[in-house]
Amino acid sequence: MNTDQINVLVKKALKGDIKSLEEVFNFLEKFNVPITKYAMYSIIYQYVMNNVLDLGKYCEECGGKCCKSGLPVPVYNFDYKELKNRLSKEQLNNFRRVNGFYILSRPCPFQEGWLCKIHQYKPYACMSYPFATEDEQKEIIDSYKDGIPDFKVPDFCIAGKKVKEFMSNKVDELRKKLGRDPTPRELLREIVKSS
Ligand code: SF4
Ligand code: SF4
Repeated sequence: MNTDQINVLVKKALKGDIKSLEEVFNFLEKFNVPITKYAMYSIIYQYVMNNVLDLGKYCEECGGKCCKSGLPVPVYNFDYKELKNRLSKEQLNNFRRVNGFYILSRPCPFQEGWLCKIHQYKPYACMSYPFATEDEQKEIIDSYKDGIPDFKVPDFCIAGKKVKEFMSNKVDELRKKLGRDPTPRELLREIVKSS
């Protein structure tokens, strides 16, 4: 499986498809290295952000800051393929092609108030925010060795903080039961069971 195929599966998983999530885990588990373990934990946080908690009111309170400023949003070819079938020619003009992939500038032209006008087809990078964003998590990734990563969430991201709070409670419950950190698979099982 190449990176694009994994990202496609992760995007499906973030839309609630548990089978795709299991497939990604089956693949990543074959590599017994810290970075794949980190990736599995990160995907669980992303899954919770998109599927488990009702976070709309927090994003409304924040006003959609993640779409207003920051580096341009990377739009992978598989994202663009999906968007191409859904958006008008005029809307597609908002995507710029740079070094072989598309980008979307911030402030994002698809933001309306705090809402995303293309919510159902938004790029993978938007769905994985703030738990996979390279600029947010770079330090955590670089120093990661084992265990549950202490993901860095910007102060303004109330929704991300709520996810961290929720996950921290789940992890504590499992730590008490197991006497150690839950593996990504154990944590995922617990999350799916409770959602
Ligand atoms: S995800 Fe975080 S930063 Fe983005 S709108 Fe929601 S609360 Fe704000
Ligand atoms: S596509 Fe949607 S979620 Fe992504 S930056 Fe634009 S408005 Fe925000």
